[in-house]
Amino acid sequence: MEYKTLSNGVEIPQLGFGVFLIPPEETKDVVKKAIELGYRHFDTAQSYFNEAEIGQAIAESDVPREELFITTKVWISSYGYEETKKAFQESLDKLQTDYIDLYLLHQCMGDVYSTWRALEDLYREGKIKAIGVCNFSPGRFTDLCLNAEIKPMVNQIEVNPFYQQEGTEDFHEELDAVVEAWGPLAEGKDGIFTNPILSEIGEKYGKSVAQVILRWLIQRGIVVFPKSTKESRMIENSDVFDFELSDEDMEKIKELETGVPIVEVDNPEFIKMCKTL
Ligand code: NAP
Repeated sequence: MEYKTLSNGVEIPQLGFGVFLIPPEETKDVVKKAIELGYRHFDTAQSYFNEAEIGQAIAESDVPREELFITTKVWISSYGYEETKKAFQESLDKLQTDYIDLYLLHQCMGDVYSTWRALEDLYREGKIKAIGVCNFSPGRFTDLCLNAEIKPMVNQIEVNPFYQQEGTEDFHEELDAVVEAWGPLAEGKDGIFTNPILSEIGEKYGKSVAQVILRWLIQRGIVVFPKSTKESRMIENSDVFDFELSDEDMEKIKELETGVPIVEVDNPEFIKMCKTL
């Protein structure tokens, strides 16, 4: 495993496991399997409605809590100082833990600043090891950095071969923050797993398309947590530390940029839709 060190010294495993859209009734078994296979970093959210099942999986595993890295996120319906503190406690209860490793604002909408103050206070109280945001544009991220008492340590944004956000890792590094990629495998869309360029690169290294993508992100210094409910893919996705893509192959992947994200996080329709959730 490789790690990134956050601005406060906290070490985050660069590869983790995402649980978005895993139905609650499957989550406990999937997470238990992932722990058994060696995953120690899990990315969930209040709005994924499967925190309780992750908590059960952790409780039933033999791995001590301190060996796990758990991220969860506050949804916009709980934004605001007091509401966020309440949502945080609910997440703790569901996850059956007394601290969160990384707590994130899920969207850049609504009362971001009151919510951020709650995260700062929970961090000062030692209940969160690191704090950050998701889906903040460079401008909004800069604004938060300029106005926060404790700067966000992470920005979790969409990054994959079709939406590469070139240079985002350097931009965030200048602000002492680490980038996490959501949708690293482009959620399996647009034929990504049969893409000719990625397949050809994979053949050279004896690796699958998924492994090439995850390696490309890791070499950019980005944190990844692909989601899969299938054991063989969980094994495949974690087997990415025994090869290195050449500069030439890193460059070749740049050709896949489409400029089109899976989710336009700044689109008015998306913002209106989120408000209804
Ligand atoms: P993803 O990890 O890019 O893709 C998951 C899809 O790829 C699933 O359909 C999975 O299917 C398939 N897959 C996984 N490994 C594969 C492999 N080796 N070969 C072939 N297919 C494979 O998408 P994601 O779940 O959206 O993103 C990852 C995590 O990021 C989420 O789980 C969540 O934790 C986080 N996230 C955050 C935000 C945010 O706004 N902050 C938004 C979206 C996601 P199977 O399960 O059938 O294997």
